[in-house]
Amino acid sequence: MKKKLFSILMLTGASLLLISCSTETNQNKDASTKETTTQSQKTEHVDYDDQEDWEFTSGDMQSPIDIVTSDTVAMTPDTGQISLDYGKDITKTENNGHSIQITDGGTAVINGRNFTLNQFHFHSESEHTINGEHYPMEAHFVNTAQDGRIAVIAVFFKDGAENKGFQEVLNNVDNDKTDPITDLNGMIPTNKSYYHYLGSLTTPPLNENVEWYVMKEPVEVSTAQINAFKKLYSHNNRKVQPLNKRVILEHDE
Ligand SMILES: [Zn+2]
Repeated sequence: MKKKLFSILMLTGASLLLISCSTETNQNKDASTKETTTQSQKTEHVDYDDQEDWEFTSGDMQSPIDIVTSDTVAMTPDTGQISLDYGKDITKTENNGHSIQITDGGTAVINGRNFTLNQFHFHSESEHTINGEHYPMEAHFVNTAQDGRIAVIAVFFKDGAENKGFQEVLNNVDNDKTDPITDLNGMIPTNKSYYHYLGSLTTPPLNENVEWYVMKEPVEVSTAQINAFKKLYSHNNRKVQPLNKRVILEHDE
C-alpha cells in the first residue's frame, strides 16, 4: 500500500489521467477525476480572462516570468551562441483565435544543437517582463529538436520605427494570404545576447522543460502596427509566474 501511494506521488501532469482510469484509493481517485475533467474542458479554448483555471497541469517551472536583471547569472562557460535561418519556408499565416501564427520551416542552431522552427506568433503585452516592466509586444519563435525538446526564442517589440517584416505579417492577415515575409530578420535583433531559463509553454497544456531564450535587445515596431495587432488581440499574454528556485542565465555578445 505504501509503495502504491509512493508511485502515485511520483506521477505528474498527464499521468493523472492514468490514475483516474485505475482503481486507486478513494481520496486519490476523487482528486484525479476532478483534474482530468478540468483538463479536458480547458485544452480546447484559451480564455485570457480565466487564467486561474489554467493551473491544472502547472508545476513549479512555468512561463512567462519576470526577469530581474540584477539576479541573473553569467553562463559559464558561455558557449551559448544562437544562429538562425528563418523565413525560408513559410507555408501558412493564420489568425488562430489566440494569436497571429506563421508556420515556417527555418532552422536554429542553439549552443551547437540543431532545431527546426515550427511557427512563430505574437503576444500583446509582452509575456515576459524585465524588472517588472512589460514591452508592448513579444514574438515567440517556437523551435523543436529531433528528440522533441522545445526551445522558444522570445523577442520584445518596442514602440519605434515601422517594422517591415511585421507589416508583411499584418498584410497577410488583412488579406487572408500567405505571401513570403521578405524581412523576417527585422523581427530578430542583430545582437543575440539573451536571458536563458527553463520554463513552460505559456498556453495550455503548459508543458514544462521548455528552453527559453529571451533576447535582451528589443526590435522596433510602430505605434500603428502595435495598435493594428491590439485590435485583434489586446491582452493575449499569460501573467508572470513564480520563478521558484530557477536560475536565469545570461549570454552576452
Ligand atoms: Zn507565445
